[in-house]
Amino acid sequence: MEEARHFIGGAWCAPASGETLAALDPSTGQPFARLARGNAADIDAAVRCARAAYEGAWGTLSAAERGRLLFALAALVTRDAHTLAQREAQDTGKPLKQARADAAALARYFEFYAGAADKLHGETLPYQNGYTVLTIREPHGVTGHIVPWNYPMQIFGRSVGAALAAGNACVVKPAEDACVSLLHVAALAREAGLPPGALNIVTGFGHEAGAALAAHAGIDHISFTGSPQTGKLVAQLAAEHHVPVTLELGGKSPQIVFADADFDAALPVLVAAIVQNAGQTCSAGSRVLIERSAYAPLLDRLAGAFEQLRVGPSGADLDCGPLISEKQRRRVRDFLDEAQRDGIAVAARGRLDASAPDGGFYEVPTLLRDVPPQSRLAQEEVFGPVLAAMPFDDEAQALALANGTPYGLVAGVWTRDGARQMRMARRVRAGQVFVNNYGAGGGVELPFGGAPSGGARQSGHGREKGFEALYGFTVLKTIAIRHG
Ligand code: NAD
Repeated sequence: MEEARHFIGGAWCAPASGETLAALDPSTGQPFARLARGNAADIDAAVRCARAAYEGAWGTLSAAERGRLLFALAALVTRDAHTLAQREAQDTGKPLKQARADAAALARYFEFYAGAADKLHGETLPYQNGYTVLTIREPHGVTGHIVPWNYPMQIFGRSVGAALAAGNACVVKPAEDACVSLLHVAALAREAGLPPGALNIVTGFGHEAGAALAAHAGIDHISFTGSPQTGKLVAQLAAEHHVPVTLELGGKSPQIVFADADFDAALPVLVAAIVQNAGQTCSAGSRVLIERSAYAPLLDRLAGAFEQLRVGPSGADLDCGPLISEKQRRRVRDFLDEAQRDGIAVAARGRLDASAPDGGFYEVPTLLRDVPPQSRLAQEEVFGPVLAAMPFDDEAQALALANGTPYGLVAGVWTRDGARQMRMARRVRAGQVFVNNYGAGGGVELPFGGAPSGGARQSGHGREKGFEALYGFTVLKTIAIRHG
């Protein structure tokens, strides 16, 4: 990677404007690198290079050859996993062990989609006598990818890995708050032998480079992960040219714990699901709904676990790192201040470790009890290490609470009763349901996304991950042959 450069057409390019912006280390609040400040001209150059690759060296490869190149890229990610993890940890503030897991997931995404590239096929369809009808799956062409700052490597992997495997050429606009690891991945893509223009990365601000990408007439599909507000803007811009959009927006995911659950198994998972990445995870388990007869004892155990949590710089590798930015810390503080004004009780807080430098964007994990279901804290995504606990009396009330937000991304159900597991899994509104476990986003293989029914559309629509994502990066063509 070269400093303050985009990766366009297989080369490192200076920003058209000549302007740069600072990359900050959230653990210290200090700048550690310069990034190119992309604008519409950079995006246009990237889209043109992607189109040329799609119509040339990349688009004419066989599916098996594309798969081989993606396997090579996966191997290089694994080779450089330590460097990638260090960069991700410095850029996002997340503990090094989490960044290592993210690097491993990135390699796994490329492996999974490399293996799937030549297994994506259509069907033959029964039709009138004298015809043979078949469907084939074609790539969209040039796909745009707007990536957030919370999991740059993972979200890049799931979106770009699937798009490339399906045969698209990609233009990526990572988040201005965290994108350094992805520039390293661009260098690895070149080393792996991806033809110039198959993958392009333009860094910069959302309202500049991001908006230019979403509005570009040369883009054939946009996938966006981030806030519901920005997702709406992106969809509006894409609609100008009728460009299809996949939106992965956010959640207020419930963990529903019945009194018969295995608390020993549940406890560490309930804590990890909100503390991972300092709660800056769209699928964070940010609400814990507990059957009333078990509410007090489980809350006590949760409080004990929260009091043990330590927060510090990424390199200290504690339970929790800082938040991504001062803006995000203020957002989380606003939620906590409002909860305090509303008289919502704090059950426990974690501790700031002595190793945390002044100037870092730290916020300790907080467990709040008896959170009113209609409060802002129970309804809106905090995107910080804040867990809202509330009791329920029966299955019907648990479902009403679980489904009572504008989101529907992930849910956890904890019970030993098999019939209840199935009833709850069927009735809870979520794109993924975990029973007696919680995947915080789930595995590479598992389709993931919002369940936009009944007005709960704030989690977005479309599917990422698994084989299902490949379908989203293709267009089905029907060919009807009349042969008599
Ligand atoms: P955001 O939605 O503004 O940013 C996500 C991506 O969109 C970034 O790459 C950004 O540069 C880009 N972007 C911003 N404005 C754009 C525009 N006008 N056109 C095109 N692209 C644009 O998110 P944020 O401001 O970084 O965070 C705000 C809130 O979003 C967070 O507090 C959190 O609630 C939510 N969020 C959710 C996720 C998720 O995974 N679901 C990820 C990040 C943030």
